[in-house]
Amino acid sequence: MIKTVLNKILEPIFPERCVVCGKNGSLLCNQCQPLFIIPETRCTKCGRPLPSAPSSYLCQSCLTEKKSFVQGICFFQYFGTVKEWIHNIKYKKNVYQIKILDLYKSKIIDALAKFECDTIVPIPITAEHAYKRGFNQSLLIAQKISQWIEKPVSTALMKTHFTVSQTSLSSKERKKNVKNSFLAGRKVSGKNVLIIDDVFTTGSTINEAAKAIKKYSNSVYFFTMAGV
Ligand SMILES: [Zn+2]
Ligand SMILES: [Zn+2]
Repeated sequence: MIKTVLNKILEPIFPERCVVCGKNGSLLCNQCQPLFIIPETRCTKCGRPLPSAPSSYLCQSCLTEKKSFVQGICFFQYFGTVKEWIHNIKYKKNVYQIKILDLYKSKIIDALAKFECDTIVPIPITAEHAYKRGFNQSLLIAQKISQWIEKPVSTALMKTHFTVSQTSLSSKERKKNVKNSFLAGRKVSGKNVLIIDDVFTTGSTINEAAKAIKKYSNSVYFFTMAGV
């Protein structure tokens, strides 16, 4: 039942139209596809895009700060069209546009193959966002990936206190805002966990979540749709 309702929500209005230029045919036409940039060079630890880097390069943040995750991947570059796309999903409630990820299914499966995860944990949203938005985009992404890599989704992560939106905060403020804001359940005991979120910017949300999960789990990895 839930699945049917979910499919309905994710169902686009027919005929499918390109989310960028509006052309009929598919959610992302061939001409607009190059605007969804998959970085060629990334930080080898957090997977964020880097301008150009040798294969063992670390970003400044991974070089200078201890991380609670083993490794991660920020799939698209969080810029321009990709930024608008995620904004459309989160703030304009065009939830069906998450389906664009389907076009990259095999690439995403390949990217995740190096992480040996047993269970998938989405980043929970605040009660305020749940009320305003009506859905958790990270949970929707997690459910998709769960089907693709055949690993279960676990809602083992909880928010312990209210945090304000990270969007308008500086890097330092973001860290303070999310500090100790997650609590993990014992469901992740001894597991290798893949955390799912929509966007990776400073990485403080992912790192705090990983810190909470790490209390029980084995290794923590993450996947986000995009990163900077
Ligand atoms: Zn197009
Ligand atoms: Zn990094």
